[in-house]
Amino acid sequence: MTLLVFTDLDGSLMEHESYSITPAEPALEALAGRDSLLIFNSSKTAAEIRALQEQLSFTAPYVCENGAALEFPASDSDQQNQCFGLPRQQWLPEVHALREKTDYNFEGFADWSDARVSELTGLGKAEAGLARQRQYSEPILWRGPASARRHFEADLARLGLSLLEGGRFFSIQGQHDKSNAMRWMQQQCTDAETLTVALGDSPNDSAMLAAADIAVIIKSAKSDQIQIQGPQKIIRSNRPGPAGWKDAMMDILQFVDSSVENKHG
Ligand SMILES: [Mg+2]
Repeated sequence: MTLLVFTDLDGSLMEHESYSITPAEPALEALAGRDSLLIFNSSKTAAEIRALQEQLSFTAPYVCENGAALEFPASDSDQQNQCFGLPRQQWLPEVHALREKTDYNFEGFADWSDARVSELTGLGKAEAGLARQRQYSEPILWRGPASARRHFEADLARLGLSLLEGGRFFSIQGQHDKSNAMRWMQQQCTDAETLTVALGDSPNDSAMLAAADIAVIIKSAKSDQIQIQGPQKIIRSNRPGPAGWKDAMMDILQFVDSSVENKHG
């Protein structure tokens, strides 16, 4: 059986505060020993995800900026990158113009220096620089009341944009989410023996989780907001971050082994 695994990073495979993935390492190793493809599906930029893959010494396709693009490693020369997002340079000036003429109160990555992003996220300054290399999305902190945010969402919709809630920020982006690239990949893998697993901890992971065969909702401050339908199996981890990721992945691998045994034995 081929496992197609889509995972969120911050708060899921990586610890929310320290960005450590160490507690998940045993599960990553177990997964690497299988017929599997591990696809990072994150609000992070392509530059950040590539740096992380390099650090973990592996290459695989990845999905950046909340589902805006599916990119393949250079070694995968027969695959074409897929774009689901709208280029940020096209719409960001309009969003800022909207802020000027209303009382919408927010600040985002475009307003901040690397140092400020580092302060707000806990990323190192070099990593904050990679996080600011955005092509399709603008993470913001909303400073106004929730009622004004709903008006803002309606104004964004008129520009063909959406506002998605992540672990730290709200993301202004095109009308896509983390499931678009995932569904595209699922269509490429028509093998009946493919099992899709998705892991995430925030409301912006909901569509990705709902599109999986097995969904893992990693415990977080926002995980109770995630209510999904669709997967054959929904697991809620008892532990947050990479420890919960490891627990769930080990259970899934055991489940896969026992169902393969039942089928053949
Ligand atoms: Mg997350």
